[in-house]
Amino acid sequence: MKLTVIGHWGAYPEANEATSCYLVEHNGFKLVVDCGSGALSQLQNYCQLHEIDAVLLSHYHHDHIADIGPLQYSWLIAHSLKNTEKVLPIYGHRYDQVEFEKLFKPPHVVSHMYDEQSQLQVGPFKVSFFETDHKATCFAIRLEVDGKVIVYTADSSYMANFHQFAKEADLFICETSFYAHQDGKPYGHMNSIEAGTIANDASVKKLILTHLPHFGDHQQLITEAKTAFTGDVFLAQKGLTIEL
Ligand SMILES: [Zn+2]
Ligand SMILES: [Zn+2]
Repeated sequence: MKLTVIGHWGAYPEANEATSCYLVEHNGFKLVVDCGSGALSQLQNYCQLHEIDAVLLSHYHHDHIADIGPLQYSWLIAHSLKNTEKVLPIYGHRYDQVEFEKLFKPPHVVSHMYDEQSQLQVGPFKVSFFETDHKATCFAIRLEVDGKVIVYTADSSYMANFHQFAKEADLFICETSFYAHQDGKPYGHMNSIEAGTIANDASVKKLILTHLPHFGDHQQLITEAKTAFTGDVFLAQKGLTIEL
């Protein structure tokens, strides 16, 4: 399984970058997890848009879905040009009917509602979900293939039981919207110490801090997370690739 960070900003993308978007690949299958602002432009550094096999969305905030509309257009054009005959599946949750219905653009793009109570199979990936504590209904995502596990928090404030969902992940991608001295809870987000605490309690192997703030020195986030977690800690940045 190979992860490539496409976008790592919270809220809005800084110049020439993107908000939340991750490309996860296994045996040629290309899964895009979240598709934020600027994601389509950045994705094309790694693959053709019509080569994407599926899209999985954590929730419907703009910084996670802003480029879904342009992605649908790109598939319309790819079909018109006969670059592909594949239909692109987009998986989203069922707790915002208005946003969910926007995902469906047949015949070239179809939407699927996931049931967060059940395990979902998307290509080679076994996918499970965990409802987070956020301003909108949001699900953390656990991807498993060939004995390797990636857990992505999506957006959440700190939850004492989060570590159970992230348990022994090979790679834990944790939102870190704030610095240690700040309380993210009122905003539905976490700080660096909380990210490290979950990583430690879950005994994950590697921690990536993502959904990064537009202020301060991000290196400080690493220092702070390491006070709670002794494993490897990375800052998400565009093009960061980790093979498991
Ligand atoms: Zn977000
Ligand atoms: Zn959000």
